[in-house]
Amino acid sequence: MSTGLEREHYQAGERVFASGDEADCAYIVESGRVRVETADGKTVIGSIEAGGLLGEMALLDGAHRSATAIADADTVLSVISGDQIESRLAAADPVLQTLIGVLMARFRNTLDGMQGSGGIYQAVETAEPVANKVFQRGLEKVRMENALRAALNTDQLQVVYQPLSALASGRWVGFEALSRWHHPDQGWISPETFIGLAEETGLIVSIGLHVFEQACMRLQEFQQASDACKDGETLFMGINVSGRQFAEPGFFDDIKAIIDRLGIDPTRIKLEVTESLVIDYAAIRDWLNDCHELGFQVALDDFGTGYSGFQHLLELEFDTLKLDQAFVRSMFSNHRSLQMIKAMTSMSKGLGLKLVAEGIETEEHLTALTELGIDYGQGFVIARPMDAAQILASLTKGR
Ligand code: C2E
Ligand code: CA
Ligand code: CA
Repeated sequence: MSTGLEREHYQAGERVFASGDEADCAYIVESGRVRVETADGKTVIGSIEAGGLLGEMALLDGAHRSATAIADADTVLSVISGDQIESRLAAADPVLQTLIGVLMARFRNTLDGMQGSGGIYQAVETAEPVANKVFQRGLEKVRMENALRAALNTDQLQVVYQPLSALASGRWVGFEALSRWHHPDQGWISPETFIGLAEETGLIVSIGLHVFEQACMRLQEFQQASDACKDGETLFMGINVSGRQFAEPGFFDDIKAIIDRLGIDPTRIKLEVTESLVIDYAAIRDWLNDCHELGFQVALDDFGTGYSGFQHLLELEFDTLKLDQAFVRSMFSNHRSLQMIKAMTSMSKGLGLKLVAEGIETEEHLTALTELGIDYGQGFVIARPMDAAQILASLTKGR
């Protein structure tokens, strides 16, 4: 059977490569046997039979061969080229690249030691700038991960709340909970930096639950403050949920337990999912059903710039669309943008969805979006994200 790989034939005793040779490939032993030994031939390092892998270290670091390989019998080898591995390695997590780099240097130095020279391979920590950069990034990532883990157990992770207003009345009708991390040395770190790391490491599951619980508790306090004023609104709370959380067994049980314990009506919670999540169509449909069965509202976040398109709106029953900030930002500079906002406004009305315009930064934008008849607005000109005490103070004054 052809493997599609280039094959090389060696007679018994013939050399496959010698210590010090340049290297850019590895080999699979298809038949026969290969002996790997130190350059002086005094020590046999290994004997590789059919089905085994040979010369693979070069695939990882491209350094010269640090041992000699000789066919022990008539042998057929398939060649694996360095290119096949290089791009994969370059795309790998910097932590893995770092570990591989360090291991390779240590292993080659050990081999060198066996052969009487010693220690010519630079570990990545002292190697050329590119490798060193990856090494530093790898270490930094591990440090950040540890710090994020620790942050969860201290009070470094906080939640701020950004009001959303009903554009027609200008009154606050709800909030979006946004997490913030106060790193002990680096100060405030944006969620754009740490949410990705949290998703990658699975820490988002615990962080998300923490945010969910905080946000629900605050919603109760905000509602009480609002009720204390004349004509208080029934407020909602938007909470960002990542795909990793939905996929976690027990996610729905956990959030249900929280709202039951706090006595919160689930229809006042809007779970925000970003459009990029909708790529996994079958999964999102199941999650959406689960959310609705429990009574939660679901908002499609960053709508219009992701991948879902209108086809998904046809079949997935979101309750709210959050128009991506990019539309609002360009509504005066790009006439197509304004036309699309108009179209999405009438579409969401027709579909019975609430529409939120995000990223409203100026009075001009606010006025124009209000005139278009968009339901809700969110942005710096309405209010910045604030801590709970600031929100409570504003609500008490009748916002
Ligand atoms: P998002 O869900 O689209 O949240 C809105 C972001 O826009 C927030 O950034 C908010 O501070 C910012 N923003 C609000 N108004 C304006 C405005 O007028 N102009 C501009 N330029 N920006 C505005 P933030 O807080 O940095 O959060 C960034 C993203 O991080 C969020 O985007 C969300 O995707 C994610 N995120 C934040 N907290 C959480 C969380 O607890 N869980 C998850 N899964 N993701 C979160
Ligand atoms: Ca959001
Ligand atoms: Ca958004």
